[in-house]
Amino acid sequence: MGTTDIGLIGLGNMGFAMAARLRDTGHRLVVFDARAESVDRAVAAGAAAAASPVDVADRAETVLTSLPTPQASLEVATGREGIVHGSRVRRLVELSTIGTHTARQLSALLADRGIAVLDCPVSGGVAGARNGTLAIMASGSVTEFHTATPLLEVLGRPFLVSTEPGAGQTMKLINNLMAAATLAATAEVMVMGVKAGLDPTVMIDVLNAGSGATHASRDKFPRSVLPRTFDFGFATGLMTKDVRLYLQEAAQLGIPTDLAETVVRRWEETRDTQGPDSDFTTIVKPLEAAAGVIVDGRDDRRSH
Ligand code: NAD
Repeated sequence: MGTTDIGLIGLGNMGFAMAARLRDTGHRLVVFDARAESVDRAVAAGAAAAASPVDVADRAETVLTSLPTPQASLEVATGREGIVHGSRVRRLVELSTIGTHTARQLSALLADRGIAVLDCPVSGGVAGARNGTLAIMASGSVTEFHTATPLLEVLGRPFLVSTEPGAGQTMKLINNLMAAATLAATAEVMVMGVKAGLDPTVMIDVLNAGSGATHASRDKFPRSVLPRTFDFGFATGLMTKDVRLYLQEAAQLGIPTDLAETVVRRWEETRDTQGPDSDFTTIVKPLEAAAGVIVDGRDDRRSH
């Protein structure tokens, strides 16, 4: 695909970071976002602006989407001004987390119009998008996967999870339930430790040297909770969507979901108290409020 035009729709936390990465590696981008200021920011960084999803799809053979909800992905792909009406587009690379059902639906709707869908949800956050170190969970045809691989390798490490449409989404929901559960568990134990009189910075150091280490203790707590910045770059509302999708799909399979149900409840409580746009690391805040403590690593309070 080289330096030919690539379309990108959705310039939020992830989309903008991926746009920067693609630009830095010599790709020409034609972009659209519902928010004009997001388009302006991408244009200032070297992208060409499009007026709608169909305008993107008139100008690029490969269109990437990074959108917040299953509804937004369906609208952008198949709505009145959707990608499906584009004259040049040959494939949609869907990078959003939309769940297995919507991914299958998209794949079928676009196949009817001769557009291939490569389902490609990603993990690794804004830093992974910016640095090209995402885990990319593709599903779709082997040919489409091979065609897209050089582009996907700019963004991270692509895995062909399965040729079944939607399987990449299943894998992504599994990944995010793990990430959500370990962040929730880390928040709970950190609040417990502080309430019991332990120093949060020492706790994180010990967890990271021992068997309790997780991505939450290695990265999310040191970067966004201990310094109280709550700016990791993923919205509570979006994580709530992901864990709910996991729960729905697990329940449909008739498997035990006790842990997932608790994780969903914890996330809904965070969304309801901190707001859907809050950073997902604020999951610690309702627990802090209930315990009457703060997990604050800004002061060096270690006893020597
Ligand atoms: P975001 O809310 O920051 O960005 C979404 C962007 O889509 C916004 O700029 C918004 O204006 C735009 N948008 C919404 N509806 C639109 C429409 N109808 N037409 C055009 N543009 C529209 O979300 P994000 O954090 O960038 O996440 C994007 C997707 O990637 C989500 O599915 C999310 O679950 C997934 N994801 C996010 C992360 C992360 O760390 N942020 C990590 C992995 C996966």
